Amino acid sequence: LFVAFEGGEGAGKSTQIRLLAASLRAAGQEVVETREPGGTPLGTELRRLVLDPDGHVTPRAEALLYAADRAHHVDTVVTPGLARGAVVITDRYVDSTLAYQGAGRGLGAGAHAVTVWATGGLTPALTVLLDVDPVAGLARAGARARPDRLESASLEFHRAVRAAFLALAAAEPARYLVLDATRAADALAGDVLAAVRARLRG
Ligand code: C5P
Repeated sequence: LFVAFEGGEGAGKSTQIRLLAASLRAAGQEVVETREPGGTPLGTELRRLVLDPDGHVTPRAEALLYAADRAHHVDTVVTPGLARGAVVITDRYVDSTLAYQGAGRGLGAGAHAVTVWATGGLTPALTVLLDVDPVAGLARAGARARPDRLESASLEFHRAVRAAFLALAAAEPARYLVLDATRAADALAGDVLAAVRARLRG
């Protein structure tokens, strides 16, 4: 089963992924926890390049670097994990490109085309969207003081990203679980686990 977590900065994806993986493992399920960008050695390098605040990567180049990371990640981590019967949980996937590069950086449908090619069309069985207002999310993310270019992006950018995530979820409600990320972590984790279990049974 392929599960993706999406959401803006400070949405709490890492916490929810950790809790979901622990619950599934406790039930004897093999779990692969991974992320984009950065789930492979190549991805770690690409993450460093695209998130470098002094990097000035142009929007199309940025989209292609994320696509390169994703193609490699799908081929070397996601597909082999799914073939073994593992639950593969990724922190960000296609929707992040559609939201950040497509909406945020204005690439629109170009971001979609490159993403379809990079993944061979591999789509999660479930995408969990942890939705949070950018003002609240950035305050939470800021508390972690990450040394990337987050702080330099405008609130308008993050609002466009959030709206794009919500529009993607609204267009395909059966595949998405949209949660208010400001709720308590354990309550969110319960909803996520129920959705994953329903799909494991189905
Ligand atoms: O949440 P995470 O640490 O994975 O976020 C890394 C950063 O990469 C985010 O701040 C986001 O702005 C950026 N990103 C992006 N486009 C993507 C994936 C991530 O701009 N496709």
